[in-house]
Amino acid sequence: MPHATVVKPANLKALWKLLPSISPKRKYLAGGTDLVTGANTGLNSAETWVDISDLKELRGIKETAAAVIIGAGVKISELEGSRLVGRWLPVLHAAIPHFASPSLRNMATIGGNAANASPCSDGACALCAEKAWVWLELKGKRRKLPLAALFKGPKKTALKKDELIIAFEIPKWKHEGAYLKLGPRSYFGISKVSVAAALEMDGGSVKTASIALASVAPVPLLARKTADYLAGRILNEENARTAAALVKAEVSPITDVRSEAAYRREMAGVLLARALGRIGRRGENL
Ligand SMILES: Cc1cc2nc3c(=O)[nH]c(=O)nc-3n(C[C@H](O)[C@H](O)[C@H](O)COP(=O)(O)OP(=O)(O)OC[C@H]3O[C@@H](n4cnc5c(N)ncnc54)[C@H](O)[C@@H]3O)c2cc1C
Repeated sequence: MPHATVVKPANLKALWKLLPSISPKRKYLAGGTDLVTGANTGLNSAETWVDISDLKELRGIKETAAAVIIGAGVKISELEGSRLVGRWLPVLHAAIPHFASPSLRNMATIGGNAANASPCSDGACALCAEKAWVWLELKGKRRKLPLAALFKGPKKTALKKDELIIAFEIPKWKHEGAYLKLGPRSYFGISKVSVAAALEMDGGSVKTASIALASVAPVPLLARKTADYLAGRILNEENARTAAALVKAEVSPITDVRSEAAYRREMAGVLLARALGRIGRRGENL
């Protein structure tokens, strides 16, 4: 591993004061599960790592009247035990057991998962389906984006230099959720395809839908046409089949070491139909 200096500001104010005095070749260090792996494989050549794990401003899971707020520094394992996640965010809750192993979930943060901008990110994919927004800060100035707009390509984001992800704001909306992931094995498996489905139901009909997929596009993908099709329809087998066909047309997978494009496209449809079936069976339509 190449030599890197680590600095650790105690709070956000100290961070913005510190940055001008350190090497411009710097990277934030949260849980380190992507950053350290990248350094070991030569993908990350930062001279200074700015350890943000002490920033209390990035901690905690809170609620307001209209939203759940998850700090960027929250570990995946904290999400797992959260009453608010269990109550309001069924897709994110369903995604957590698919995320690496318990020991890795104790290190990895949800902010690092989004900032890393991998097309196969489970946390980012689930949060996109949950209609999350992301709060960013640069030198004391905050802005807010729909999370899906953060992703510009594999490992590319809309973050400006030094801009920090502070938190995710997820509106409270009554919905059911499912998260299905196809990977080589249950632990440490990077997905070949993942599907996140959030449905607001009105009896046996879908009122609104939000569908996101991972590993089938350059970014965690919101399948807007498929979601629009489902809205206002009965959740039955026929409509689930049509939605599966639509989602296959929305994805743009590649062939790589983990899978082939044609297989990924096919499985995007299969997993979506299964996810809809899982939600539908709770309401006994499918
Ligand atoms: C063995 C293994 C298995 C894995 N399995 C999965 C899996 O199943 N699903 C999955 O989605 N991921 C998986 N990952 C990837 C990784 O664990 C996640 O992406 C993790 O959430 C990254 O968070 P971190 O805190 O470790 O980020 P770090 O490694 O600390 O940082 C990652 C990147 O984000 C930047 N960054 C971190 N926090 C912020 C912030 N608040 N604002 C701006 N930039 C920031 C860093 O500078 C760095 O570029 C796996 C990784 C490993 C090593």
